[in-house]
Amino acid sequence: MTDTPLKLFNSLTRELEEFTPVHPGEARVYTCGPTVYNYPHIGNMRAYVFADVLGRTLSWKGYDLTHIINITDVGHLTDDGDAGEDKMEKMAAAKAQSIWDIARHYTEAFWADVKALNIREPAKWSVATDYIDEMIDFAKSIADQHCYELDSGLYFDVSTVADYGRLARAVTEEGAEESRGRIDTVAGKRNAADFAIWRKTPVGETRQMEWPSPWGMGAPGWHLECSVMGEKLLGFPFDIHTGGIDHREIHHPNEIAQNQAFCGCGGLDEATHSGAKIWMHNNFLVERSGKMSKSSGEFLRLQLLIDKGYHPLAYRMMCLQAHYRSELEFSWEGLGAALTRLKRMVMAVEKLRAKPEQSEDLKRLTNEEKEEFDAAISDDLNTPLLLSKLDGLLGAGFFTSGKKLEAVRLLDPLLGLQLLKIKRCELRIRPKDAAITEEEIEAELLRRKEARVAKDFATSDAIRDSLAEQGVEVMDGDPLGWEWKL
Ligand code: AMP
Ligand code: ZN
Repeated sequence: MTDTPLKLFNSLTRELEEFTPVHPGEARVYTCGPTVYNYPHIGNMRAYVFADVLGRTLSWKGYDLTHIINITDVGHLTDDGDAGEDKMEKMAAAKAQSIWDIARHYTEAFWADVKALNIREPAKWSVATDYIDEMIDFAKSIADQHCYELDSGLYFDVSTVADYGRLARAVTEEGAEESRGRIDTVAGKRNAADFAIWRKTPVGETRQMEWPSPWGMGAPGWHLECSVMGEKLLGFPFDIHTGGIDHREIHHPNEIAQNQAFCGCGGLDEATHSGAKIWMHNNFLVERSGKMSKSSGEFLRLQLLIDKGYHPLAYRMMCLQAHYRSELEFSWEGLGAALTRLKRMVMAVEKLRAKPEQSEDLKRLTNEEKEEFDAAISDDLNTPLLLSKLDGLLGAGFFTSGKKLEAVRLLDPLLGLQLLKIKRCELRIRPKDAAITEEEIEAELLRRKEARVAKDFATSDAIRDSLAEQGVEVMDGDPLGWEWKL
C-alpha cells in the first residue's frame, strides 16, 4: 500500500488538515445518527454513505477504526433550538403508539436502508435512551459552573465557554439573526443561544419518556446525548465527528460548548478542546419540488427508488459521483445515469472474471497507479475522481484483465459498490407496479427472436408492441446488451 497522507476538511478550522490520530494506529469516529421518528429520506442516507466512505478510507489506510453511530430516540425537538415539540412524542401521539414502538420500527427501517446501501456496521449503534444515567452525571458535573435552572429545565449558558459558535461562525449576540431556527422562545434565557440540557416535564403532565433527575422529572436535551455518547464510547478528544451541514449551526456548536465545559478546556484555537480533532460535514442532497421533506406525502425514501425499479446501489453510486462537500441535486435522470454507470462497471467486471487467466494477465498495477488512487481518496475523499480513474482503467484496451481486476479488488473496499459480488441481473429490479414477470418477458423475447430468424417481422413487431403495452421496453442493440427494461 502507498502512503499518501490523508487530508480532510475540518469545518472547525476551515482548513484541509492531515489526519494524525490521537491514538497511534487508531481512528475513532462519531457520527450523529438519525432521529427515529420517521423513515429516513435519501438525503439523510447521504450523510451515512459519506460517513461510511470516511470509515472505509480509514480502514483502507490501515487504521484500526472504531466508528460509533447513535440512534436518537429522545430529545430532538421539531426545531433544532428549544422550540417545538419532541419529534418522537409528536409522532407517537399522531399514530397512537408508544414511543418505544415508534423508535423500534423506524430504527429497523433505517437499518434496512443502511444494509441496502452497503454501509458497513459501526462498532456500535449507541441508543440515546441507554445513556440517561450517564447524561445526568455529565450534566451534574457542569451544572454549577455553566448552567442555570428555569421552570422549563436546566439551561446551558453559552457565555461561560470561550469561542461559542465558532463552528457556525456566528457570534453569540448575533446568533438569533444568523442561525436558522434559533428563536429565543424561552422566557428567562440569559443569551439567545442558551439551550436546554435537561427539559423538565411541565407540572401536571406526564410524558411517555421521562426520568427522575436533580432538576425534576424530565428528558435530556438532544445535544447532551451526543456529547455523552462520544465521551463514553470514544473518550475526549477523539479523532473525527461527522454530521450533515445543518449541524454546523446549532447541534454541533452546542455539543462543543458542553464538551469544553466538561473537560474544563479553554478556547477553540486548540481544536481538541471541542472534544474531537476534526469536525466533518456533508453537504445536502436537494430536490426542487420539496419531496425531501418528510412532511410531504410521497417523500424520497430509498424504498421509493427501489419500487420504481432502481437498485439501491445506484443511489450509492450517485452519492459517490459528487464530492461530499458539494450540494447534490437529486433527479430521476441523474439516478438513471448512475445506475447505467454501475451496470457498465458490473458488466466489465463480470467479463473480466469470465476470461481465463492469460500469462500477460500477470502484469499487475504499478506503484504509480496505486499512488494515483491513494492520492484521489486522500484528497478529502475525492470519490468522483477515484471513480473516473477506475472507469479509465477498466475502459483502456491496453491493460490486462489481471490488472483491471486487481484495481477493482483494491478499490471496491473503498467504494462499497459490491463490484465483485453483485451480478448484472441483480441490478434489474422489477418496478412495484409491473404486472408481467421476468419469465414471461424472456419467453416473449424468445418467441420474438424466432420470428425474426424466420423473417416474420409482423409477428416480431406485434410481440414488441404487446410488451410495450405492459411497460416493457425492448432494447435492440443496447450497448450494455441489456435487451429489455421494465
Ligand atoms: P436527522 O434524522 O434529522 O437527525 O438527520 C440525520 C442526518 O441527515 C443528519 O446528519 C443530517 O444533518 C443529515 N441530513 C438531513 N437532511 C439532509 C439532506 N437533505 N442531505 C444530506 N444530509 C441530510
Ligand atoms: Zn448528534
